[in-house]
Amino acid sequence: MSAMGTRAERAVLDGPEWETVVGLEVHSELMTQTKLFCCCRNAFGDQPNTNICPVCLGLPGSLPVLNSHAVELAMRIGTALHCEVRPSSFHRKNYFYPDMPKDYQISQYDEPINVGGWLQLPDGSRVGIVRAHLEEDTGKTTHQGETGRIHAADYALVDYNRAGVPLVEIVSEPDIRSAAQARLYVTELRAVLVATGASDGRMEEGSLRVDANVSVRRVGAGAYGTRCEIKNLNSLRSLGRAIEYEAARQVALVESGGAVAQETRHWDEHAGRTVPLRSKEEAFDYRYFPEPDLVPLAPDAEWQARAAGAIGLLPSARRERLAGLIGRAPTPQQVDQVHVLVGQGLDDLVVAAVGQGAPADLALVRATNELAADLDAALALDPATFGRLVEMEAQGSLTATQSKAVLAELLAAGGGDPAAIAAEKGFEALSESSLAAVVRDVVDANPEEWARFSAGEDKLAGFFTGQVMRATGGKADGKAIAAELGRLRR
Ligand SMILES: [Zn+2]
Repeated sequence: MSAMGTRAERAVLDGPEWETVVGLEVHSELMTQTKLFCCCRNAFGDQPNTNICPVCLGLPGSLPVLNSHAVELAMRIGTALHCEVRPSSFHRKNYFYPDMPKDYQISQYDEPINVGGWLQLPDGSRVGIVRAHLEEDTGKTTHQGETGRIHAADYALVDYNRAGVPLVEIVSEPDIRSAAQARLYVTELRAVLVATGASDGRMEEGSLRVDANVSVRRVGAGAYGTRCEIKNLNSLRSLGRAIEYEAARQVALVESGGAVAQETRHWDEHAGRTVPLRSKEEAFDYRYFPEPDLVPLAPDAEWQARAAGAIGLLPSARRERLAGLIGRAPTPQQVDQVHVLVGQGLDDLVVAAVGQGAPADLALVRATNELAADLDAALALDPATFGRLVEMEAQGSLTATQSKAVLAELLAAGGGDPAAIAAEKGFEALSESSLAAVVRDVVDANPEEWARFSAGEDKLAGFFTGQVMRATGGKADGKAIAAELGRLRR
């Protein structure tokens, strides 16, 4: 929950009597070379209608052939989400829409490949997974006109490059109770999908699209309220805002004596509200029937094991590994650092640096503050180089300020020797004896302040540190100054 909260959010959350109930359907495009049932390229951003063939255009007489790598990726996703991976089959889901050249979508209906799992969120809550099934994506329609919406459009363009791209749809239980938890779920799920190698996780390119089923009920009520489905939320921000708005709308409706109608709604990002799209279809509207051109799918145990073995380290395990380097219970700040670094994929760099002898606390701080600022360069940085720099700072041969400057240089240049860069910049560490001499000079020049500091006025430490920094041109290390002042005061 954002600390501020929108008016809509407060209306729901400040009142003790209402509870928001959310289930999410996440569509993840799979990172395969080719589409789900043909050999067309699966690529984002190509010239429209260049990756198409009779199969994905649904031309008469064409036959689908299932992409085995898509099946493998679907099994990895199911395994990572603790689902039962089981024999499955494909159905035709019939509906007419211009971006669906076949007028039906091949999907999995009553026999999905993955059923019954869960995802543990970083806050400790657990969201149940109903199913994660395979299906093909539709094409993409672009409405040409001032608003980009279908209303008031002059005409529409259709790109079939996406038609037939493999998707896994992950359907959660209605276990989510707030917009913040929904965002957390999608963030964690996205990280899991990336770790399995199934998805690139790029929401902005549509690789991950979310539909939210939102309802409200009185706290303590057993039955769920009538839900509305909000379609195609393509950013975490939209997801959170749409849930907050929709829950508040439903509460206001019910409290004023109305009833929520089950329907599909569209999130208008610009207006900040949901608007009705269509009344909710029932399953029979789609006239599902078994796809006659595809045989049932029954991966053997050996293939399932191979898929499970190909899953990378999952985000929860990565966080544990990184936190374990600290060597004691991490502070709340370090817990945040661990989350951020794993989320950004910078944890491997820190693990390698610590493995080479760099202290974990300092490596975490430098990675969170400095590396994250230039992520692409940081991900290309040699861990040994990062490790050497952190060690130089830990040993006191570079101050914090100097260390940051050298790291910025390393990122800008795509690598280098930290010691050489430090020398080039004239970053010679002050020897202990010369620092002691400077501190003594500063103390002698400020007898009145020194008397007060000696008498216990601790805040004057900042004054003396500043004086020493000025006298050394910023080359002194703050910790070393504090140690020297402490020694003199005794
Ligand atoms: Zn094709």
